[in-house]
Amino acid sequence: MLVTTKDLLERAEAKNQAVGYFNITGLETLQAVISAAEKLKEPIGVQFAQVHEEVGMIDLDVIGPIMVEMAEKASVPIAVHLDHGVDLSILKKALDMGFTSIMYDGSDLPFDENVANTKIAVHMAEEYGASVEAEIGMMSGLTLDESKTVNDRGMDRSMFTDPQLAKKFVELTGVDCLACAFGTVHGMYHSAPNLDFELVKELKETIGVPIVMHGGSGVSAEDYQKVIEAGVRKVNYYTYMAIAGGEAAKAAIPELGDNVQFHDLATAARAAMEEHASEAIRIMQHND
Ligand SMILES: [Zn+2]
Repeated sequence: MLVTTKDLLERAEAKNQAVGYFNITGLETLQAVISAAEKLKEPIGVQFAQVHEEVGMIDLDVIGPIMVEMAEKASVPIAVHLDHGVDLSILKKALDMGFTSIMYDGSDLPFDENVANTKIAVHMAEEYGASVEAEIGMMSGLTLDESKTVNDRGMDRSMFTDPQLAKKFVELTGVDCLACAFGTVHGMYHSAPNLDFELVKELKETIGVPIVMHGGSGVSAEDYQKVIEAGVRKVNYYTYMAIAGGEAAKAAIPELGDNVQFHDLATAARAAMEEHASEAIRIMQHND
């Protein structure tokens, strides 16, 4: 069933868990993550990143309505979210399609401009009863392409989210949740991430809305527990699931010999991504 991000994050807060939001880049990823969630009987978010349209992967017009329909038919609560919308027009388009959640990303802009545009997004979403995420602070590797970016771990702490500024941002805009920078990056890690758990705790106490962690791939199960305990409630996840799919397709090729047909690779990739997503969901829902 289709729900909003606000619904899912309230549930996650009550259970001291996080909800996985998976980037959808085609039918294979969509089927994989919804099947994983249904088998585990756990809610998830499915999200479309504006950049995936820009790099020619798939258009919102094509996959957006299918995301909404599959979420409606699913046996578990699913939020359909527009990820990293840098143009207000794509947010409007997603809302018109039935998306229940949008992220306006003005993190590249000066604070005041980010506030002004986020307020427009919040006002827009209100008409649809949809939730709004925004971002302040900068996550390394932000070419916005979470599938291709390879990052160094040269994390500059001055780019981490400032709790007081974040509080002010939330008060001025009225967003439902906030993407914060505390050590994760988009894309792949070259060495283990060094997350600032104290900063997450401070943000949770200060900002008054749930914290979103981007770049959830490559974070260890142990670090997941710490970061969820500290207050992260939404986790954006894609890269390592996509790699699992790619590896499965590669492994299928030798077995197929001279008869390599795309559907066999897609089927192998989908199964591997479902397994990977299941494990990610299990880790995020673990709350011992
Ligand atoms: Zn992101």
